[in-house]
Amino acid sequence: MEHILEQEGTIPVVANYDVVVCGGGPAGVCAAIAAGRAGAKILLIEALGCLGGTWTSSLMGYLMDVANKSGIVKEIEAELNACGAVEFYTGDHNCFTFDIEAMKLVLENLCSAAGVELLYHTRVVAAVKENRTLSHVIIESKSGRQAVGGSRFIDCSGDGDLAALAGCSYMVGEPETGNTQPMSFLVLLSGINATDIEPFIGGGSDKPKQLLLEAFHQAGVDPSYGSPTLFKIHDDLFWMMANHQYGVSSTNAADVTRATLEGRQEVFKLVAALRSLGEPWSNVRIVATSSYIGVREGRRINGLYEVSIDDLIAGKEHDNIVCKVSFGVDVHSVDPKHGKGCNVKDKIKVKTPYDIPAESLISRDIDNLMMAGRCISGDFLSHSSYRISGNATMMGEFAGIASAATAK
Ligand SMILES: Cc1cc2nc3c(=O)[nH]c(=O)nc-3n(C[C@H](O)[C@H](O)[C@H](O)COP(=O)(O)OP(=O)(O)OC[C@H]3O[C@@H](n4cnc5c(N)ncnc54)[C@H](O)[C@@H]3O)c2cc1C
Repeated sequence: MEHILEQEGTIPVVANYDVVVCGGGPAGVCAAIAAGRAGAKILLIEALGCLGGTWTSSLMGYLMDVANKSGIVKEIEAELNACGAVEFYTGDHNCFTFDIEAMKLVLENLCSAAGVELLYHTRVVAAVKENRTLSHVIIESKSGRQAVGGSRFIDCSGDGDLAALAGCSYMVGEPETGNTQPMSFLVLLSGINATDIEPFIGGGSDKPKQLLLEAFHQAGVDPSYGSPTLFKIHDDLFWMMANHQYGVSSTNAADVTRATLEGRQEVFKLVAALRSLGEPWSNVRIVATSSYIGVREGRRINGLYEVSIDDLIAGKEHDNIVCKVSFGVDVHSVDPKHGKGCNVKDKIKVKTPYDIPAESLISRDIDNLMMAGRCISGDFLSHSSYRISGNATMMGEFAGIASAATAK
């Protein structure tokens, strides 16, 4: 490969903070709010133009594993509820769908009230460190290349970008192959009515997914995700997960671009096929597509403790606990040759809840860096359980409080 030598230059240090959070998804938002409320001067850096990460930019409007949670995620739920933006699925409030646009506003309001400084359309692209201590992150945006100083840093980028840029060790994918779970290109649908398509709606049980798959087959298409799912947001608004993009690396831009192009082609084809069936689908249409394809997994940054599948099987408890995870193992097939659904779920019996300990959020390699969300330290199988967003919020809140308390 050809290389060029990048010219060395100086970069302005635009500000210094007690706590710098990289990524404004479920984990990053909660980390920033918690740190702000604890009195820290806090900056939240987000690559895209809204908060929420997978919740919003990827149109994944279903918050799971919240029944045994507390704190900021419950405030988010209450704020969404207050503006009629929540559709509960289960009596115990374990999961709920939400209005994605309302979620963006609720998160911005909570951050603003907590004194969080926010930078949108800005990406963390490098890290400056001395020995085992980070001093600055380098950010890039329309304002150019700038440096931001910090006392504590939290990597909530999902893919572990900041930690990797700082030279931390990490793992990716299945131990045998390095293959990751597929990505999914999600869409919002309208032109259908909840009463008319009631048997096809559902997140938890398999029957609605089976009926939707049969409808696709009847219309002459076979979705790349073998358990296509339709979630109700309002009576006339739904989000749909029917696509799997296999063999895609979340840290390879060409891969992610290809997956996005293929995903969009497929979902338009699938929806056109549904429409061709006539009532109740005759007017179904896509009203939004993800601005960022849904990424199930990227880097898992090595921490002081690695959550493992043995922890799940044993229902392991810890002293220094971040949260209790109730969701089981859920690996979406890494290879369509071995099925296009979730093919580990029923084979491994886990004892839930199990604990996420604080040590799995603390970087093994950098002293003033924590991780929260799907990039914490864990093995492939346990990640498929704890990555669910109810847990990401609790990890973020814990990391925010801890970082604020220990910032100089
Ligand atoms: C298709 C799909 C379906 C899912 N289904 C469910 C479900 O039904 N229920 C559920 O609860 N969970 C579900 N999940 C899991 C859940 O959404 C994620 O695990 C959760 O969002 C993880 O939160 P996070 O904050 O760690 O990361 P993310 O949500 O990925 O957020 C990361 C944020 O960091 C930003 N970022 C990344 N890199 C940089 C950088 N270098 N600089 C600045 N910003 C950066 C991104 O733009 C993004 O906003 C699903 C995930 C996918 C992909």
